[in-house]
Amino acid sequence: MNEIELETVLTQVTAALRSLRPDAVCALRLVDPDAGGYRLAGTEGFPAAGRILVVPFGEGLTHVVAETRRPLLVENNQRDPRAIPGHWSAVPGLTTYYGVPIDAAGEILGVINMNFPPSTPPTADEQASIGMVATQAAVAIRNARLLAERDERCRAAEALADVSGALAQSLDADVIAQRVADMVRHLLRASGSLIFRSRPDAEELVTVAVSGELAPDFGRGVVFPGGSGLAGVAVRTRQVVATPDFLTDARVVLPPDLRRSLEPAADRAVLAAPLIVQDRVIGALSIRDQTGRVFRDRERALARAFADQAALAFHNAQVLKESSTRQAQLEALLEVTRELSAIQSVESLLGMIAETCGRLLDSGSVGFRLLADGELVVTGKWGDAGTIMNTRRLKIGESLSGIVALTGEPLSVTDIANDPRVIPAHREALRRAGYKRWLGMPVKIGGRLVGVLSIRTRRDQDFSEGDLAIAAAFASHAAISIENARLYEAITGKNARLQEQATELEAKNAELDSFAYSVSHDLKAPLVTIEGLAGVLLEDYGSQLDERGAHYLQRLQANARQLERLIGDLLALSRIGREARSPEEVNLADLVDGLQAELAGLIQARGVKINIREVVDLWGIRTQIEQVFSNLLSNAIKYAGENASPSVEIGAIDRGDLIECYVRDNGIGIAPAYHSKIFEIFQRLKEVEAEGTGVGLAIVKRIVEAAGGRIWVESAKGQGAAFYFTWPKSGAKERAGGPGE
Ligand code: ADP
Repeated sequence: MNEIELETVLTQVTAALRSLRPDAVCALRLVDPDAGGYRLAGTEGFPAAGRILVVPFGEGLTHVVAETRRPLLVENNQRDPRAIPGHWSAVPGLTTYYGVPIDAAGEILGVINMNFPPSTPPTADEQASIGMVATQAAVAIRNARLLAERDERCRAAEALADVSGALAQSLDADVIAQRVADMVRHLLRASGSLIFRSRPDAEELVTVAVSGELAPDFGRGVVFPGGSGLAGVAVRTRQVVATPDFLTDARVVLPPDLRRSLEPAADRAVLAAPLIVQDRVIGALSIRDQTGRVFRDRERALARAFADQAALAFHNAQVLKESSTRQAQLEALLEVTRELSAIQSVESLLGMIAETCGRLLDSGSVGFRLLADGELVVTGKWGDAGTIMNTRRLKIGESLSGIVALTGEPLSVTDIANDPRVIPAHREALRRAGYKRWLGMPVKIGGRLVGVLSIRTRRDQDFSEGDLAIAAAFASHAAISIENARLYEAITGKNARLQEQATELEAKNAELDSFAYSVSHDLKAPLVTIEGLAGVLLEDYGSQLDERGAHYLQRLQANARQLERLIGDLLALSRIGREARSPEEVNLADLVDGLQAELAGLIQARGVKINIREVVDLWGIRTQIEQVFSNLLSNAIKYAGENASPSVEIGAIDRGDLIECYVRDNGIGIAPAYHSKIFEIFQRLKEVEAEGTGVGLAIVKRIVEAAGGRIWVESAKGQGAAFYFTWPKSGAKERAGGPGE
C-alpha cells in the first residue's frame, strides 16, 4: 500500500462519517511532526480551500482532543476559548463540534473533526458509531503508514543502490548527476530537481543536471549568484533546508531578475541539500514541488543521502582526472628516465626529475641532496637551486634538508627566508631570490633514507595536499631512478667481468684444443707403427710364440686399436671448433643410407632393423652431421642388448625455425641418473661390454651445440633410449653465410 492507498482509506473514512450524518461536515487531521501540527488529510462536505492546511500543535479543539485522547463535544465552538478564533465553521453556521481521537493502541495518529448545524449534536448512538469509525480508521491508517513506510524504504534503498551502482560503473560525473537528479525527483514524487556545482573561484552555483518540468529557462548552465536561492542557503549553512514557498521565505535571497523569472512558477516548495566532500561544499541538490508541500524528515534524510552520492561522484571524477593526468606525466617521465638511465649519470637523472617536479609545482628551484659518507651532498638540481643550495654538503640535522633527513618525514615551511633553522648562507640566498615557501621530501629506498628533495616557491599560498602528493611521487620516482642507476652500474660492471672471463675461457679452450690436436696427431703415427709391427710380429713370428705369447700380442694389438680409436675420437672432438669445410644442404635419407652401408657388418651381426621415419634436409657441415648420426646410430646398435628384435628409428621433424632429429632404439636404455653424465667426455656405463671410448656422445653434443642446437636423451633402464637434438635452420645458414632464403 502506498500514499495513494492511504488517501483511499481516508476518503472511505470521511465518506462513512458523512453518510452517518449528511448534514455534517467532517475533516480528518493527521498528526504530522514534520509539518509541526495536524495536517488536513481528508475532508467531506466542505471544500478544503480556505481551511488551515496545518493546525499547529497546541492550537484549537483538535489539539484538545489529541491531548486528552478523548472525544469532545462543544455545543458552540464560537464561544469556546479553546477553539481557533474566527473558525471557518461560523460562516456556514456549523458551530456544533464533535471531535474523536484516532487512537492506535495508545498512539494518537490524528483527530476526526465533525461540525454540525447548531443544536443537532450527534446522538449517543451516532457518537458510538463515530467512535467505531475512528477505531477502524486508526487501524487502517497505521497499516497504510507501515506499508507505505516499508515501501518507501525499499524504493529509497533500491534507488540508492542504483545510484551507487552507477557510481561504480561510470566515472562520468555528469551522467551520475543526472541519474541522481532523476532518482531523487522520482522518489520524492517531486515535480523537479536540480544539481548545482559551485564554481571553484566564484561563489556561484551552476546547474549541471536538471530533471522534471521546471520553468523552460531552467536548463543546464543556469547560474545562481553566490548564496542565492534555497540552494545558496544549503551551501552557506551546510544543512539540508526546506521551504513550502521560496518566494515568501525570509532566508532565501534572489537577485531581482531571477526572482522575476521564477515568480510565475507553481512549484515553489524546495528542499535543498549541500554536496559536501572532505569538508568542502562543492555544490547543492535542490528538489522542487508544488507550493505548500512540507518535506518530511525522512525526505530530508533521503535528499542528504543522494546529495552525498552526487558529491562522491564529482569527487571521484575529479580524482580520476587528476590522477590520470598525473600518472600520464609520471609515466612519460619514467619512460624517459628508463631510456636515459643507461647513459645518464644519477646526477643528470635527478636534475631531470627536479625539472619536471619544478614545472609541475610551479617552482623555480628544486634540488636533491643524496646521502654520501654520512652527509647530504647536492646531486641534481633545477632552476636556481645551484645558487640557493650553495653549501654543497650538509650534515644530518643541519638546515631544513638535514632535518628532513633526520626525521625521515616531509617538512613544509612557510616563511623560509626568516626561518632560524635555515643556515645563514642559504637564508641570505633565499631572501635575495624572494622565496617564501619550502617543501622537503625524504627520498627513501625500501624505508632507508638515501636523500632529500627540496622545493622552493615564491607563492603566498602554502603547499596543498595535492602538491605534497606530487612531491612525494617525485621523491619515490627519484628513489627508483637512483636504485635503477645503481643496479645498472652493478649489472654492467658484472657483465664486463663475465665477458672478460668468457674471452679468457675461450682462449684457454682453443689452446687446449690445439694441444689435444697436436698430441693426438703426434701420438697417432707411433701408434700406427706399434699396431703394424704387432701385426707383422704375429704374422711372421706367430709360429715361434706359444699360446700365451700370441695372446699378449693380440691384446697389444687390441689395445693399440682402442688407443687409435680414442685418438681418432679426440681428434674429431678437437676439430669441431675449427672445421674448415663450408656448410651445405645435407640430404638426411642419403646420409643414413651411407651410414647403414658403413655399419653393415655391425648391423647384421646384431640383426638390427633400421627404420627411417620422416626426414628433412639439414643445413650444415656434412662431416659433422655424419659424425652425429654415425655416433648415435652405432651406440643404438652397440647397446641393443638381448632384445630379440632390435630396431632403431631415425627421423627429423620440421618444427618451424628449427629441426628436431632423433635416433631411437629399443635396447638396454639408460637410467635417468646418468642422462647428463653420458654426454661428458670419457663417461661410460659399465653394464655392457662394448667397444667404446666414452667420447662419442661428447663429440655429438659439441657438434650440436656448436651449430646452435640442443641435445637430450629420454630413456629408462631396460626401456630403450631416444636421443633428440635440435638443429637450427636459418641460424646455421646465417652463421655460415650460405645462400639466404
Ligand atoms: P661409448 O664409446 O662408450 O659408446 P659414448 O659417449 O658414445 O661412449 O656413450 C657414453 C655411454 O652412454 C655409453 O658407454 C653407454 O653406456 C651409454 N649409451 C650411449 N648410447 C646408448 C644407447 N643408445 N643405449 C644405451 N646406452 C647408451
